[in-house]
Amino acid sequence: MNLVLMGLPGAGKGTQAAKIVEEYQIPHISTGDMFRAAIKGGTPLGKEAKSFMDKGELVPDEVTIGIVRERLSQDDTKNGFLLDGFPRTVAQAEALESLLKDLGKQIDHVVNIDVDAEILVPRLTGRWICPTCGATYHVIFNPPKVEGICDVDGSALMQREDDKEETVRRRLDVNIEQSKPLIDFYAEKGYLRTLDGDRPIDVVYADVKALLGDTE
Ligand SMILES: [Zn+2]
Repeated sequence: MNLVLMGLPGAGKGTQAAKIVEEYQIPHISTGDMFRAAIKGGTPLGKEAKSFMDKGELVPDEVTIGIVRERLSQDDTKNGFLLDGFPRTVAQAEALESLLKDLGKQIDHVVNIDVDAEILVPRLTGRWICPTCGATYHVIFNPPKVEGICDVDGSALMQREDDKEETVRRRLDVNIEQSKPLIDFYAEKGYLRTLDGDRPIDVVYADVKALLGDTE
């Protein structure tokens, strides 16, 4: 079962990924993990990727795709894989198509967990931290007893730059813009399965399982 998982930040992708890999015993392959493994392993491509990252530059596609190819050639992917965070662009998706073909594989489903950005904003901006003891709170999921105040020591809670609304909205906009052509590409290929992610975790997962049942 060869899967690509898509979804905006906060859409619950990580949670669904964890459930899928546990149940179907396939490796969860995220871009970050792949880079870290290649760099740690000191492979030629890992060294190349590191040289770009050290300069604060984007890793070029040819290097990224090379790392994906190495990863998907490994034994543990013979029963399937779950790709997460790759591909990000149509060019990468096309490269993935051709490298899978070389490996005698193909994508079965692209699972797109769809949640409206307006629903994601409060989830993604809800985190507040205590500057004194480091306790974290979430306005929706784990609120402090008194709004804006740490339960432990009474300090005024703070928001990290990454969690501020302006930053969150910008991040979502970039993601939406980037994923649109990719979603169209996979729809055209007939791989795209869009699920409504604005429901309880187990309900979304039941849909994922119903979908994946087809390929067993
Ligand atoms: Zn505190």
